[in-house]
Amino acid sequence: MAYELENIEGHIFRLPVVSSPMDTVTEFETAKQMFESGGFGIVHRYLSEIEQKNISLKCAEQGIIAGFAVGTGSQDRERARFLIEDGLAEIICVDVAHGHHIAAAEMVSFLSKNWGDQIHIMAGNVATLEGFNFLADAGAHSVRVGIGGGSICSTRIQTGHGCPTLQSVIDCAKSDRDALLIADGGIRTAGDIVKALGAGADLVMLGSMLAGTDCSPGDIIEHDNGEKCMEYRGMASRRAQTAWRGKVASKEGVASHIPYKGELEAVIADIQDRLRSGLSYSGARSIEQFQNTALFIMQTSAGWRESNTHISSLAKGVRD
Ligand code: IMP
Repeated sequence: MAYELENIEGHIFRLPVVSSPMDTVTEFETAKQMFESGGFGIVHRYLSEIEQKNISLKCAEQGIIAGFAVGTGSQDRERARFLIEDGLAEIICVDVAHGHHIAAAEMVSFLSKNWGDQIHIMAGNVATLEGFNFLADAGAHSVRVGIGGGSICSTRIQTGHGCPTLQSVIDCAKSDRDALLIADGGIRTAGDIVKALGAGADLVMLGSMLAGTDCSPGDIIEHDNGEKCMEYRGMASRRAQTAWRGKVASKEGVASHIPYKGELEAVIADIQDRLRSGLSYSGARSIEQFQNTALFIMQTSAGWRESNTHISSLAKGVRD
């Protein structure tokens, strides 16, 4: 599952997984563990420029490759310049809800014109092949694909826009551009990762699957019954917007508590094992081979129920 990233010279990544730029998912600790486990993380853009730059320098000092999210405003151009020139950032992610938009393309072009042969430029999100090509043509080396599919996302309900992530991946995989396709939103299990890769994704981005660990930003909350949880929230949720902007503009996400999972390293090791099995069941040694052999079929809701564990409710003592 080895792959390289454009402009990240001399490093082979081994895990096709990227952690999401969300304030309950990726700051320094997650980025560090993601890199040590073979993938990489994108540090969210709601930190101050200085905080992001300090994380970037800390990563550079220890040889950790990580990405840094920015928006599309004029102040984001300065933030990007600061991160790249003073913070030595190697991956910049133009992180907006609606990436098939002139503002996103202009930001990507700005990055491309100034540092296009020096940094890896990631951008998104888009739901269509046209959107994918639009960002790739602007200079993106990788494009996040998926609108409205995130576990904490209410975009489709609030705005009527979006597309099932798997469908978007299938459509965008038809692109003849060189940009890597990153499936993003709605991936709940290692099986979903395998399906996204089989449908044409080069990488997958994960939010909820990587939240609630020892590396996640935020506190562990202990309930009266002893259950441990952590907050996981959409960046357009009321709670996230209030925390970072002090006001709520367009609420398109929710905040939730998810069970505390323990060590991120173990969570990723588990994903890695399942990916290996997933590829081997198709007789594939690489993602490319897998994409050439994977077959998708339609199934009924009865088939879907059968796909989940379905031992009789009368059974006693069912365990892992
Ligand atoms: P998950 O892996 O299903 O939990 O989805 C994570 C993805 O949801 C992120 O990588 C973003 O693309 C997206 N996302 C994050 N916050 C929000 C939000 O508030 N509304 C809509 N989508 C969001």
